[in-house]
Amino acid sequence: MPKDFHTLNPEILFNHMQDAVYVIDPESSNILWCNRPAYEELGYEKEEILNHSVLSLQKHVVGLPHWQEVAAVIRENKSFTFIGNHQHKNGGDISVEIVTTVFEHLEAEYFLSIARNIGKRIQHDQALHSRNHRISFALNEASDGLWEWEIDTGKVFFSPQLKKMLGYGPDEMPPTIETWSDNIHPDDLVSVMKHINRHLADEYSHYEDEYRLKNRNGEYLWVHDKGKICERDASGKPSMMVGMVRNINKTKLLEQQLESLASEDFLTKLPNRRCGEHKAKDLINKAIELKQPLCVAMLDLDDFKTINDQYGHAKGDEVLAFCASILKDFQRESDLIYRWGGEEFVCVLPNTSLQVIEKVSAQMHQHFKDANWQEIGIPRQTVSIGLACTTESFLEDFETLFKQADSAVYAAKNNGRNQSIIADKTNCQYCP
Ligand code: GH3
Ligand code: MG
Ligand code: MG
Repeated sequence: MPKDFHTLNPEILFNHMQDAVYVIDPESSNILWCNRPAYEELGYEKEEILNHSVLSLQKHVVGLPHWQEVAAVIRENKSFTFIGNHQHKNGGDISVEIVTTVFEHLEAEYFLSIARNIGKRIQHDQALHSRNHRISFALNEASDGLWEWEIDTGKVFFSPQLKKMLGYGPDEMPPTIETWSDNIHPDDLVSVMKHINRHLADEYSHYEDEYRLKNRNGEYLWVHDKGKICERDASGKPSMMVGMVRNINKTKLLEQQLESLASEDFLTKLPNRRCGEHKAKDLINKAIELKQPLCVAMLDLDDFKTINDQYGHAKGDEVLAFCASILKDFQRESDLIYRWGGEEFVCVLPNTSLQVIEKVSAQMHQHFKDANWQEIGIPRQTVSIGLACTTESFLEDFETLFKQADSAVYAAKNNGRNQSIIADKTNCQYCP
């Protein structure tokens, strides 16, 4: 059937509008005409609102005098927008935006009000507001700091929280990549760059690392950093990366503390037996691999029991720590010295051959002799040392060298103490 647009009269069009339309008498506030949504949306029949005051539909304007004031403002402004509530017949509120204009017809004045239900818009605004609120919370308050790196230009956005984490104010920290990279601990920089570059080269799905970052006071903080490419250019090259930095300083320091508790001897501050043996095996394997000479020295303090017996265990402890300090004085950077147990210590001396070991052990005895024993108030103490060295034809492992040194120390004790004995490979029961 052909469409006959001309038969669509205004009443039909108004009734199909979404908005409610009212023609109001400014004097009485009565509704003289309205379209269908005007009453249907509020749950009324048409007769229930026609010739009734528009004030009955809402509660913001109370009584005729108040209406007269509102009417004066509408007249003055020609067009007036009001945001408020209409009341549904069942008592519920409907959020509306009402635009009212004034017009004259045949010398009579009328108000034309168009009311739009804005409930959905308000809900949407509220959702947006709370989303903005969450984003702003994440940026400003949440403990993680955020960054956004524009790769081509080297520009970096640092979130206020990230700045706060490093002790900077919101207007500090220039927004460049150098602000970040220049403050990474030099020992961590290579690893961090390697991880970032591997992600940029698509070898890793994301970038992640733990490293030390300098704060405003020049102190280093341990941080956990995780990032990902979020934009690429037309050729697929990464152009933008975003990430999150977390302060893990407390956990990291605790971890390090636990690690040192687990690996350090509490009394002497030397590595304990577990940690020392682990390091000793590494050194010996490396020496075997490089065919380099190495010696193991087992030291046992002479007649130590008498210290405890004469001066008490507290003094005994003090003497043990003092002996450890004598050994630390003697120690080269490449040497490993650890407390094996009780009053026994192990020294692993890389790059030390059988030819020089006699001289080295003589120096150890000399160090014990020269120590300032008066400082701890006991007579000079001596030590018995058992030594075992690798040679070109005997490249033994840790266990073998240790057994050789251990039997040599017993030989030194039996021989009268305060001396060194080098394990004799030719007669040694542990030699291969
Ligand atoms: P030797 O010359 O034969 O080695 O005699 P010694 O007395 O040194 O050896 P012995 O093995 O008979 O005694 C070692 C003593 O070391 C016994 C033990 O009470 C003491 N000792 C071991 N560990 C500690 C410690 O942590 N603190 C103290 N104060 N004494 C310890
Ligand atoms: Mg002993
Ligand atoms: Mg002893």
